[in-house]
Amino acid sequence: MLLSRLPARSVLLRSASLSLPRKPNNANQHRLIFSFLRKNKKPIAPTEAVPILTEDNLFHPFSGSPFPPVRARGEAIQQLAPCPVCAGEHTHVHAHTQARPRAVKFECPDCGWPTHCSEEHWKEDPEHQKYCQRLREANEDEHDLRSGRRLREFELPGPQGYEEAISFANWDVFWYTRGFNSMDTERSRRHASKLLTYPITIGSALHQYSNLTLNNQRLTPEGSRSLAALRSTLHVEPGAPETEEAAIGKPQVRVFILGARAESSLPPHVWEQLTMLFPSTHFHLFFIGPQVSLPKPPKNEIEVTTKKSEYLPNVYEPPTPAPISRFKRTRDSLQRYGVPSYTVPYTPQLTITGMQANYADVHAQFQHTLDPYSDVFFMFSPGFGFPSPESVDENGQPLVQIASPTEWGPVLPMLLASKCSIFVTGFSPTDVERDIRSLSSAPQVSGEFEWVITPGPNSFGSEKWEIADFDPRVMVKTNWGIWAIRGKSRDVQERSSVFRLFG
Ligand SMILES: [Zn+2]
Ligand SMILES: [Zn+2]
Repeated sequence: MLLSRLPARSVLLRSASLSLPRKPNNANQHRLIFSFLRKNKKPIAPTEAVPILTEDNLFHPFSGSPFPPVRARGEAIQQLAPCPVCAGEHTHVHAHTQARPRAVKFECPDCGWPTHCSEEHWKEDPEHQKYCQRLREANEDEHDLRSGRRLREFELPGPQGYEEAISFANWDVFWYTRGFNSMDTERSRRHASKLLTYPITIGSALHQYSNLTLNNQRLTPEGSRSLAALRSTLHVEPGAPETEEAAIGKPQVRVFILGARAESSLPPHVWEQLTMLFPSTHFHLFFIGPQVSLPKPPKNEIEVTTKKSEYLPNVYEPPTPAPISRFKRTRDSLQRYGVPSYTVPYTPQLTITGMQANYADVHAQFQHTLDPYSDVFFMFSPGFGFPSPESVDENGQPLVQIASPTEWGPVLPMLLASKCSIFVTGFSPTDVERDIRSLSSAPQVSGEFEWVITPGPNSFGSEKWEIADFDPRVMVKTNWGIWAIRGKSRDVQERSSVFRLFG
């Protein structure tokens, strides 16, 4: 039987893949991510670049950083974060006598972050030791990224040979079997996992060799049927070569990424890494959300746009990422979708569309074509369980976003009706739990869904701590956890048994 065979086969191939010879690192296969750090149109050959900072000189207090964006971040934190010792003192006095805790001004000499109002309060705070080491690591990572060294961890491999199986057990075997440069340090792992977490979280969840399986109880029997439907489009018949030619006649796979923010500003060549896991699939990625990045205006209009600020603080709701690069074939899609939008046909296998809109406002354009065999939804840290900044209930209390008419309230029922799988990530165990709990408080969601992937850690989350400007003690990891649901139905099961007859 098709379904029961998949996990067993994946285990077999996983262990076999470990003994595969490592692919030679052909420099021509690699693309460099210059757009991250360099403004030059023409890439400088890596060997020519002279590092500004050497590896033993990566630690600098924020205010003394050689890089303006790091100094600007330090200043932003000084505006936003309250001193934890002052804040603690205030909990012991009556609310009406409370003054606001003083902001952080003093930079800890060990981690370089502004952490307390004064040296005195820094000395008084034994709690800081819990955070200091991670903050130091983050400080050095920020300086390393800008150091000007050759960032080999950002050199991405080209297409996969079709006989070379990819393992999705964890980042290490994934990088190894995909032919990445070896990640020699924890710092390289943090940089690379942060860059790749969005495309590889999607790819590893959807792939037939996913490590979310029935065996480890992350995949449910219902989910197994849903994913088998999707995988029948993503892959080829067992035994057939998975090549570009095999894409002919197959429908596009549409990945709808809702509430997109940072992921919508990733360069397309990073998203191309997703398509390289599925050589016989043509992907159309849709980034849809009010904070989606749109391409920079054409050159002659740049002068009239506002000057980009050095650093945007990451308060509660992260800000909309900066405009993205305009590629040769980028075209505006305003006429087609009726909202600010663009489309880039990037490679024959990858088309990207970005739409700056609430999904509820554009759903009607997709509603009648959504198909669980070829369409899937992803929501990266959607904050279902966070309070809505705009909508309140009859008692004046903020609604949770999953039940709020201005956020996810109308969206989830639309997605459930499509019967397509809906994948959701969270940035910590607490965040995942908060979102899951909120499911039961949303009237048209509670009782209307089945589990596809049970909640738990995501092997392809970012390994870098993201630190909140409003309180450097708050640290999370992008895509730490993953789960998935779909609308209740037997449709997919019936169709998949039909599919088996003809397959
Ligand atoms: Zn203080
Ligand atoms: Zn410190």
